[in-house]
Amino acid sequence: MSECTHNCSTCSSNCASREKGQKNPDLLAPQNAASNVKRVIGVVSGKGGVGKSTVTCALATLMNRRGYKTAVLDADITGPSIPRAFGLRGVQLEGSEMGMFPAQTKTGIEVVSTNLLLDEESKPVVWRGPVIAGMVKQFWTDTCWNEVDYMFVDMPPGTGDVPLTVFQSLPLDGIVIVTSPQQLVSMIVDKAVNMANLMGIRIFGIVENMSYFRCPDCGKEHSLFGNSGIDEFAAARNIPVLGKLPIDPEIASLCDKGVIELMEADYFEPVADAVERATNGEKLPK
Ligand code: ADP
Repeated sequence: MSECTHNCSTCSSNCASREKGQKNPDLLAPQNAASNVKRVIGVVSGKGGVGKSTVTCALATLMNRRGYKTAVLDADITGPSIPRAFGLRGVQLEGSEMGMFPAQTKTGIEVVSTNLLLDEESKPVVWRGPVIAGMVKQFWTDTCWNEVDYMFVDMPPGTGDVPLTVFQSLPLDGIVIVTSPQQLVSMIVDKAVNMANLMGIRIFGIVENMSYFRCPDCGKEHSLFGNSGIDEFAAARNIPVLGKLPIDPEIASLCDKGVIELMEADYFEPVADAVERATNGEKLPK
């Protein structure tokens, strides 16, 4: 093991200071003067298609229902799916000299996403990595986020430029890792875990999405992909398992129709509970 350099952003040592979630404060980007974002939670995954955006939308919906002022920063610049799930198609962001104003969902969740800046949602964002990473930073610094108790950041999958920028520039309280049973067998989730550890970012826990299917006729649960071994995986890394979520055609349908805020599923509640518990009473970011 390497020796601690006292800079968690460059050091891979697993020392005590990392356990306190330290990182290099010099790299943090300032909030907009009109923003007061109190807690920032990253939602990450190793690969795409595991339900990261769905979990982001569900957590935002639940926190909003619990009375917290809630926002979603869609950092998945080239594959944004947040506006569609909240029924914000055709909405365009506006701004003033103070900065950009987030869109508001039907229940008052604030959202910023690249798709809210394009005149057509199918237009691709053909930009190089550094430009994309700069955009995410601007979503943080140049948006008038107002009062926000919980901001969820929907990260692009993997461990590239944008996750690195978010980990370094935003005052993350911690991250939730979303995975699926098929994904866990590869080393890709481990890469996300190791990246967070390397950067001194707290991992609130891991969520296994599409874990099983509950038969609508007999109510029996079927693990379509077999036992993924998530409990063993998480225990070996000292990470809590926050939830095992079913394959639920209803949740996919609500996202497709842009009405995720109408969801009635209760299986996201323990994940929201864990995030609430992990962040309440903690020192809030400046
Ligand atoms: P990611 O953000 O990881 O790329 P998404 O959240 O966009 O993944 O989900 C990918 C697709 O899977 C979407 O069509 C979504 O509606 C669907 N989906 C996600 N979670 C579930 C689930 N638990 N049950 C059924 N469909 C799901």
